[in-house]
Amino acid sequence: MRARNLYAPTLRNTPADAEVKSHQLMLRAGMIRKSASGMYNFLPLGWRVIRKIEQIIREEMDAAGGQEIMMPILQPAELWKESGRWSAYGDEMMRLKDRHEQEYSLGPTHEEMITALVRDEVRSYKQLPLLLYQMQDKFRDERRPRFGLMRSREFIMKDLYSFDRDEAGMRVSYQKMYDAYSKIFTRMGLKFRPVEADNGAIGGAKSHEFTVLADAGESNIAYCESCDYAASDEKAELHPIEAPAEDMQPLEKIATPGTSTIASLCELLHVPVEKTIKAVAYQTETDELVLAFVRGDHEVNETKVQNAVGAQELRMADETAIQAAGGCAGFMSPIGIRKGTKIVVDPTVMNLYNAVAGANEKDAHYKNVNPKRDFTNEDLIVTDIRLVQAGDPCPHCGAPLKMTRGIEAGQVFMLGTKYSEAMGAKFLDENGKEHPLVMGCYGIGVGRTMAAAIEQNNDEQGIVWPRAIAPYEVVVVPVNGKKEDQLHYAEAIYEELQKAGVDTLLDDRPERAGVKFKDCDLIGYPVRVTVSPKGMEAGTVEIKVRRTGEVKVVPREQFRETVLDLLMTL
Ligand code: ATP
Ligand code: MG
Repeated sequence: MRARNLYAPTLRNTPADAEVKSHQLMLRAGMIRKSASGMYNFLPLGWRVIRKIEQIIREEMDAAGGQEIMMPILQPAELWKESGRWSAYGDEMMRLKDRHEQEYSLGPTHEEMITALVRDEVRSYKQLPLLLYQMQDKFRDERRPRFGLMRSREFIMKDLYSFDRDEAGMRVSYQKMYDAYSKIFTRMGLKFRPVEADNGAIGGAKSHEFTVLADAGESNIAYCESCDYAASDEKAELHPIEAPAEDMQPLEKIATPGTSTIASLCELLHVPVEKTIKAVAYQTETDELVLAFVRGDHEVNETKVQNAVGAQELRMADETAIQAAGGCAGFMSPIGIRKGTKIVVDPTVMNLYNAVAGANEKDAHYKNVNPKRDFTNEDLIVTDIRLVQAGDPCPHCGAPLKMTRGIEAGQVFMLGTKYSEAMGAKFLDENGKEHPLVMGCYGIGVGRTMAAAIEQNNDEQGIVWPRAIAPYEVVVVPVNGKKEDQLHYAEAIYEELQKAGVDTLLDDRPERAGVKFKDCDLIGYPVRVTVSPKGMEAGTVEIKVRRTGEVKVVPREQFRETVLDLLMTL
């Protein structure tokens, strides 16, 4: 390709509305342009990256036994009603009607669609396992579209679905995908970590997220250096902490004016924070109140609370809902809360003796709260709802956990029979007995992976692509593109590289050298070959490695070998 004809409008300045590096650099390097909130056009350079990522994914999916198909984006509401997700999916699903008033979704994911596809055709155990995938646009009306391709409303996903005859088969398919994902991210040259994850709204038994490590990531990961445990903070399990046993003192209400925070409470009463109880009040999608309690120095893990009560969504509770249940914001405990209110208590709280908790009235607390004695509420749910923090003991080996940030680029799920049972997707075994298909699903966000790669690989000058997903592997730059002899010399080099199978761009624009070099660094081609009058005279070319800044001047006859050798290392 020749840069003269390339539609890659680069920008010198950082666009004001782009918060993260990847978004800024993709805009500046002329790879994407915004069309509307959370929706992007891909320009030629950006699209080349997407195609390369897709190709790596495709090769590994095929190698693992996957077969590529294509399903429609528009999905009939009936299918979603069969699985129960038409109502459960909530506002994130984009919905529309056709001229006959039939309802559809713009597919946010394809479990329903594919289950409907196979249920009519897969009849026998002999057809299993079956692994089908597609590479396609998904739509999610995200509450906060942001960070460019990282959280958009229309995005490309590779989604594969596995169908097996039993749980053991599903585990084999899951492992195949887990291994394929590891190969994919390794081939792309990214630092990543598979972490245990929450299954979320998709349901099922087990899940891992493939997280690309980067500070701009929205995922917090807890990991252990002593064993190989790693989990997202939503998932990370924590064992209850014991408290030293004490004689239970009588419950006593005390005045605590202006102490609606744990810090102010501890200061007033001179109690250690480990002997206080913290409350967070939520409401579910059906407005039901949920009160969650953790120890004063701990934080509530919203995902765990959501799972504990089986809610689709949680939001902070309104003052009126709290009052209606007999609570008082800032001064809450389970003691005296109205019957029928959902209360979830972390087991570490249940282990406390003579602690301090709210008295459910303004400016008042109880002291000598002994949860085992005093939390007599019916239907009290006691379960781990604590958010992991650095230093918490690893649930597997007890060593202190560390925390890091990352971007969830892919996720694999064991689904089991959730969709096949709801939608009647069955097969016959050797004995002619009917069973539901056992499923798994596996997604990779293609655009988000591109963004994650940039978050992990950039510097002051711009993007530093790993070779495997660079828009071009090598750029050939004649210092003066207006000079015929330089252009010819550069062209010969370009053609030689092309012939050697190297993905090359010839920057034949009649721009100043400085402008071209800046663009090369911004766009981030792994290798730059520069043709200058001096070099032409001496019979040499200059080779520069984007990642290290290393410059080599080699004889013209040797340049090809040098470039090929260098590329092997990038
Ligand atoms: P998140 O928790 O970040 O919202 P998710 O867990 O809902 O993502 P999945 O349903 O697991 O996403 O989708 C599979 C993959 O699709 C994700 O791992 C991610 O790479 C990508 N993806 C999901 N939502 C978006 C989005 N809004 N924009 C871009 N990519 C996305
Ligand atoms: Mg996910």
